[in-house]
Amino acid sequence: MTSQNQSFDRLCRSGVELSAYSTYEIGGAARHLALPRSIEEMAVMLEGAKTKGLNPFLFGMGSNTLFPDRPDDEMLFFSLKEHIEFKLLPGRLFVSAGTPMTLLALFGLYTGIGAFDFTFLLPGTLGAGVYMNAKYFSHQISDVLETAYVIDKEHPERGILSVPLSQCEYGYKTSIFMRRPWIVVGADLKLPVDPKLTPEETEELFARLKAKNLPTSVLPDYFRHYAGELNAAAKQGFEVRQELLDVITDRGGKYHFDYPSCGSVFKNNYTIGEPMGKLVDRLGLRGTVRGGAMISDHHGNIIQNRGGAKASDVTDLVQLVQEKVEAEFGFLPEPELIIV
Ligand SMILES: Cc1cc2nc3c(=O)[nH]c(=O)nc-3n(C[C@H](O)[C@H](O)[C@H](O)COP(=O)(O)OP(=O)(O)OC[C@H]3O[C@@H](n4cnc5c(N)ncnc54)[C@H](O)[C@@H]3O)c2cc1C
Repeated sequence: MTSQNQSFDRLCRSGVELSAYSTYEIGGAARHLALPRSIEEMAVMLEGAKTKGLNPFLFGMGSNTLFPDRPDDEMLFFSLKEHIEFKLLPGRLFVSAGTPMTLLALFGLYTGIGAFDFTFLLPGTLGAGVYMNAKYFSHQISDVLETAYVIDKEHPERGILSVPLSQCEYGYKTSIFMRRPWIVVGADLKLPVDPKLTPEETEELFARLKAKNLPTSVLPDYFRHYAGELNAAAKQGFEVRQELLDVITDRGGKYHFDYPSCGSVFKNNYTIGEPMGKLVDRLGLRGTVRGGAMISDHHGNIIQNRGGAKASDVTDLVQLVQEKVEAEFGFLPEPELIIV
């Protein structure tokens, strides 16, 4: 056995339930799962996958991904969620792809920078946020991105490539990253003002943020953990902006974290003039159940796992909504959810 193979086998786990890696809590045992902690480890995984003829599937926190009940043995599932890195640079902040987006809001909380408030309690990793231009009301990742860094899966020998904002082709939940075989490994984010911290304080803040990372994808735990951070910060004398408190009220009020889900299932179709949730309401589909899955009784664009749901229960509801919307409103809703 070559040392390359040994490294791959050391980094790869077998028989791990993917349900533990998705906020849907759905997904069967994967034959190959890896959580590389660095770009070097990721390169070993990709090289190993090539040698063994495996098809790699990249994910982050699994908050927009529906894993299969019986994963294909020939697939390598790998997530960058354990690769968390921050670096303060003049006028910008480098953040690695595996970093939870909500940590950016906490960075803003501790440094008085409001530009990242929209990422508070936005589940998922920065890499996926850059990939699909994650959005909360009128704010989106493209507002704060300066440069994304990617590796081309088909030409890893070219190393890390820079993609400036002007070349990201950003639109509503779309980007060039969805059309290229690229892995986002990190990004430089714009800082409207430099945080007034000494190098020691900066290092200490980054270590604290890293320590605050919650490794699970269980939504109620995620909510409690990060919402609790505001109280902790207030007790230490940091000013908690109203915008952050409003996120708790808004997302809590929409019952986002009560049951396993991946948030909105479909993209809004802005030519129609009403968001998908409203259209599903008008069709009277809220509360529709298939197996263990249900269209939320509070929000028509969210399908929840109410206990023991299978991937096929969710896809049955996706199909039902698509058929009914197409018949009534004349367009086929495009899923935002990635169905593996
Ligand atoms: C309760 C709840 C509320 C939500 N609210 C919002 C919201 O307000 N706005 C919003 O935009 N989304 C929302 N979402 C969806 C989710 O937060 C975003 O889609 C987020 O960007 C997904 O991040 P992730 O790391 O979990 O991605 P995953 O689900 O792990 O992956 C999603 C896709 O991104 C790709 N990807 C992941 N990492 C990388 C990378 N490093 N490079 C290239 N491609 C990559 C994957 O291949 C996959 O296709 C919500 C989800 C939940 C559960």
